Amino acid sequence: MIGTRPEAIKLAPVVLALRRNARVPVKVCLSGQHRGLLTQGLSAFDLTIDHSLDLMTPDQRPSELVVRIIAGLTPIIEATAPAWLVVQGDTTTALAAALAGFHARTGVAHVEAGLRSGDRATPWPEEMNRRLIGQIAALHFAPTARARANLLAEGVAESAIEVTGNTVIDALHLALARIKDTPRVIEAAAPILAAAGGRALVLVTIHRRESLGEALPELARALLGLAKVEDRLIVLPIHPNPRLAPLIEALSGQPGLLLTPPLEYLPFVALLHRADLILTDSGGIQEEASALGKPVLVLRDKTERPELVEGGNGLVVGTRSAAILARAMPLLTDPAARAALAQAHGSFGDGQAAERIAATLESRMPP
Ligand code: UDP
Repeated sequence: MIGTRPEAIKLAPVVLALRRNARVPVKVCLSGQHRGLLTQGLSAFDLTIDHSLDLMTPDQRPSELVVRIIAGLTPIIEATAPAWLVVQGDTTTALAAALAGFHARTGVAHVEAGLRSGDRATPWPEEMNRRLIGQIAALHFAPTARARANLLAEGVAESAIEVTGNTVIDALHLALARIKDTPRVIEAAAPILAAAGGRALVLVTIHRRESLGEALPELARALLGLAKVEDRLIVLPIHPNPRLAPLIEALSGQPGLLLTPPLEYLPFVALLHRADLILTDSGGIQEEASALGKPVLVLRDKTERPELVEGGNGLVVGTRSAAILARAMPLLTDPAARAALAQAHGSFGDGQAAERIAATLESRMPP
């Protein structure tokens, strides 16, 4: 079950591994929680889709989406009678699909299980979504040992958890291989790379609910402050959320800042690879950056991925302009400071997570 861009990127390697082994049939169902962005995640992997609920509406509320996904998915579950219904992460799609599977007495398997911020309300509603899925699922694929410990602390049976690594690292490896074999797949990134030239490239993404509203003017101030020095280009692919309009207004046309539409996965990976510094509130980008050894400043107050900080390539800086600038400026002016935070590490996986997950799904029947 796939609803958003990160689910497409993170489940594609699992679907590809299952299809490659061809021992069990696998069907892909899209909820349509996001439409345009989702297609961007899918296109990199040429995933074929079997069912599409196409449910996206403007300004959809999580509870309305839950209702519509359950209503749309239940007949599909009844018709296909899957051994496992696989959900990923912490989206409303993942929660609704897990619940629909549970009600239909289908085994629910959760990929990227056990991430916790420790705060029920942050990120909202994702932290509660993943806690609830943790109670519903019969099989939990935890990306890290810490995620496994979180599940055990909530009473999940040891035998129902497997530590696999995060499938996003598999997706990143697949993307890097495709870029190497077929360089034209990153054509969309070419104008941005050319605009950066020899300057330092700072890649920024902002999309979480917590970053919108009051935090936006602070984030805009920080980015304008960073762009004041001419030796760098700040690149900001803009998530298509209308609530980002004030940020676009504050930053458009300003020197040193380049706003672009969101990029397809392969050109985006090319930017990640070229970036000298990443500022983000995205979870997946933190994981990818750690595998690439790129310094990351996390624009959030709390994280469910402390492995980033422990691994030595990230700092959690929040959304206040002064705090962001205090951390970012030295990383751009002092090569030694930047190198110290550019540790590539395998905390989030070794690129083999999807193979492990596929092998378990093929060999294990739901309880
Ligand atoms: N991504 C992308 N194009 C973009 C921005 C991000 O393909 O313009 C990818 C990124 O590499 C990562 C994923 O989208 O794999 C992250 O998605 P998002 O930030 O929407 O969600 P989160 O990771 O916070 O759940």
